[in-house]
Amino acid sequence: RKAPGPYPLPDDDWQERGACRGANPALFFAPDNENNQQRRFRETAAKAVCAHCPVRTVCRAYAEQTGELYGIWGGTTERERMQSNGRHHSTAAAGVRK
Ligand code: SF4
Repeated sequence: RKAPGPYPLPDDDWQERGACRGANPALFFAPDNENNQQRRFRETAAKAVCAHCPVRTVCRAYAEQTGELYGIWGGTTERERMQSNGRHHSTAAAGVRK
């Protein structure tokens, strides 16, 4: 039996159950030279996927726990996670894949 708690264990397969599985990673990670309008559109579309994801809570907890710097995780942007952590600095786009 696995230990209870909101955080994933190392061997958890929660990402396999994410609503974004099979989605284009470019929706969740900013491409180079993305302007503000493109970013808002992309983030809104990604958040719409996260909104009905069955592992959203675990995904967000994972991103916060690991200090994930890039991408949409659990319906939050990197800026939103930084702000919730009390940190304020800009992030650069990166071609990071989940
Ligand atoms: S919450 Fe969003 S980013 Fe996380 S697994 Fe679900 S769809 Fe993917």
